[in-house]
Amino acid sequence: SEILGDHVTYYHGKVKEYTSDKLSGLYSSAFDSSSSNSLEAKLEIIDMLDKPALKQELSPVEQTREEFIAERHQGYSNLFTKMITEPKGLQLTKIGDSPDQPYELANATFVSLVRNSELRAVISTITQIESTFNNKYHYPYVFLNDETFSDQFKEKILKLLPNSKVEFGVINREDWNKPSNIDLAKEEEGVKALEDAGVGYSAMLSYHNMCRYYSGGFYKHELMQKYRYYWRVEPGVKYFCDIEYDLFKFMHDNNKVYGFVIALYDSPESVKSLWPTTVEFLKQNPEYIHVNSAHAWLRENLQNPSNYERAHGYSTCHFWSNFEIADMDFYRQPAYSSWMEHLEKAGGFYYERWGDAPVHSVGVGLFADKKDIHWFRDIGYFHPPYYNAPLREKGKCLKMPAPGTFAGGGLKDQDCLYNWVNMAMGEDDHY
Ligand code: GDP
Ligand code: MN
Repeated sequence: SEILGDHVTYYHGKVKEYTSDKLSGLYSSAFDSSSSNSLEAKLEIIDMLDKPALKQELSPVEQTREEFIAERHQGYSNLFTKMITEPKGLQLTKIGDSPDQPYELANATFVSLVRNSELRAVISTITQIESTFNNKYHYPYVFLNDETFSDQFKEKILKLLPNSKVEFGVINREDWNKPSNIDLAKEEEGVKALEDAGVGYSAMLSYHNMCRYYSGGFYKHELMQKYRYYWRVEPGVKYFCDIEYDLFKFMHDNNKVYGFVIALYDSPESVKSLWPTTVEFLKQNPEYIHVNSAHAWLRENLQNPSNYERAHGYSTCHFWSNFEIADMDFYRQPAYSSWMEHLEKAGGFYYERWGDAPVHSVGVGLFADKKDIHWFRDIGYFHPPYYNAPLREKGKCLKMPAPGTFAGGGLKDQDCLYNWVNMAMGEDDHY
């Protein structure tokens, strides 16, 4: 295919099992149950999973829900009155640091699962990523689709990215489609209940497939296997501010597992049984919980107590996954991947509408050390209807809403970022 040029691989991907010898070994400490003390500590945490976070952890004083939300919102706003520079106390690398040496990229790629019909919107996103960050680094891109990418799609994208390696992959039918263990009558019943509850996309099969694929599929795609870190790219989002250090190197050099910009609540009906299914898994496999995990944050029940009730023990607070930078070795290790098998058997991607965002959040929230999860507060970002709008030095951002704007209006009870800051964020991340 001449028009594609040398730097492009056009691939009909096949899923291969990731073999453990490729794992970094970084996470082995989390699975070390050789010391009975640590297993005891883990069992103690597992006993807490079906109870709400302690009241003292959430709020030192008696508060109504309204007072709690007002206080959280004030906390959130205050955070954004401080000028944001770059993470402090953490390793930062940027191109040009050692001009006489060639710059070594991290083992990382952008990834976008996208439809042909979203070409314009994905061009808009890529243009912003390139101008705020990647025109200095030229990290590669992988585009994935359940259908063949059109020639027009490929040509336009390649023209936009002359200096990056770009690969287009088709997802195998059997990796994308609903698996055969799904009981169709139960699925129909589940979809109807979700529709009655007004849950978005509940009757759209492709959306369920997408959520499942972004939860447990994409990092197994053949084109993704050579990479460790990914940065997810969604059509139609906005990047407002210059990103002046290498985010992938940042993840690697500081041992971060997962990076996000926005945290919010989900429709509880969509994840009705995700938490009980997970607790059941951990009771069978207690070694997988991390003793320094963010479990208390997942069990918060003051801001939207009815979410906690309807999701049977999970606040539904999650990192919004349309922006995420994460370490795929984390997904590929036994904790996450055997949990994913357990989730697949339970079938909640189809009987309910488990989103990839709550799945990633519960996964990293339980199997990772909370200090390895990073809020990129310096990244100006928008996916309708929510923002991360930092106060940055003059000239660093394009026109953006006022610092600290979370949403256009009226949705502040949906913002749970301040619960993360308050309950889980490490000192390193306070900058
Ligand atoms: P929302 O943000 O939850 O409203 O969901 P989106 O419609 O933005 O979908 C999330 C991501 O998955 C986007 O990158 C979409 O392009 C992609 N996506 C969703 N459904 C499909 C699909 O059926 N096929 C493909 N190829 N991509 C999809
Ligand atoms: Mn979207």
